[in-house]
Amino acid sequence: MATVKDQLIENLIEEDKISQRKVTIVGVGSVGMACAISILLKDLTDELALVDVEPDKLKGEMMDLQHGSLFFNTPKIVSGKDYRVSANSKLVIVTAGARQKVGETRLDLVQRNVTIMQSIIPGIVSHSPDCKILVVSNPVDILTYVVWKISGLPATRVIGSGCNLDSARFRYLIGEKLGVHPTSCHGWIIGEHGDSSVPLWSGVNVAGVPLKSLNPDLGTDSDKEQWKSIHNQVVQSAYEVLRLKGYTSWAIGLSVTDLAGSMLNNLRRVHPVSTLVKGFYGIKEEIFLSVPCILGRSGVSDIVKVNLSAEEDTFLKKSASTLWDVQKDLVF
Ligand code: NAD
Repeated sequence: MATVKDQLIENLIEEDKISQRKVTIVGVGSVGMACAISILLKDLTDELALVDVEPDKLKGEMMDLQHGSLFFNTPKIVSGKDYRVSANSKLVIVTAGARQKVGETRLDLVQRNVTIMQSIIPGIVSHSPDCKILVVSNPVDILTYVVWKISGLPATRVIGSGCNLDSARFRYLIGEKLGVHPTSCHGWIIGEHGDSSVPLWSGVNVAGVPLKSLNPDLGTDSDKEQWKSIHNQVVQSAYEVLRLKGYTSWAIGLSVTDLAGSMLNNLRRVHPVSTLVKGFYGIKEEIFLSVPCILGRSGVSDIVKVNLSAEEDTFLKKSASTLWDVQKDLVF
């Protein structure tokens, strides 16, 4: 007997069921799910796949999102432990991994998360050889390098979320100090996502007016207004949120969605993300750290060459050597 579906619907074009803008999120913890809800609400994908090693949590999170389908425009949400579920992804966001414990630095996490990347990346690449991989798990710069090596993909398609979040925190805090919305407060943090990140005080401006032209001591120890403390707050803020609520999620979810939007919509916006910087800014090592990059459908298509002050250049090189010190001893 013909089913109701058979009587109601005559399918004419089977291929229309194949996703054109599929996104996979690996790791359905606090960060992965903040990315998921934010991507769904921004209508960035036509199919969202979730992957994790915890089957019950994975199914629960998938069902919970599916039940919200009426309220967003992503018609298909799937999940599975097997990477087959991620096949044909345009973008894979990796948030899986052990998270920082209170008092633990991002770098302490590294070897634990390297092993996890070894279990994830081959499955992703074999099912989506043309994808871009956005690494969020910490320590993000080192893991982006590790993922690049394991994946065999061009470096332009392996991107770390890097200082996109640090810069967002920076702009929020500048905005608070000035009483101006963060979108109108321009400022960049580059280098390592974390303790050795580098604020580019020379470029901080509102409406094209460099704040350093109004206060030449901006960002230095001799500054009476103590703008430098804003960068200290940026560095400390992840630890502070971690101490208060046990994890960070909303801001990183929104920041990752911003990056996903630039890639999936081929916007060619400039973001401070972690990319292979060997040969740039006098850096000789094969490391990933954040510099302003143009992001589009191919991943990082261009690097913007910023004029650094002598001090900023020194700090960036220090950030690079901090990363290299850890990275050179990694086993994978
Ligand atoms: P969480 O513990 O809530 O979630 C991690 C998830 O990963 C869990 O669901 C776990 O089951 C899963 N997982 C573990 N091993 C896996 C594997 N081999 N394959 C698939 N899934 C696996 O942690 P969280 O708070 O969501 O944080 C996730 C990561 O994101 C951490 O490394 C954290 O430090 C990092 N993070 C990065 C930033 C950033 O700015 N880059 C910001 C916040 C958090």
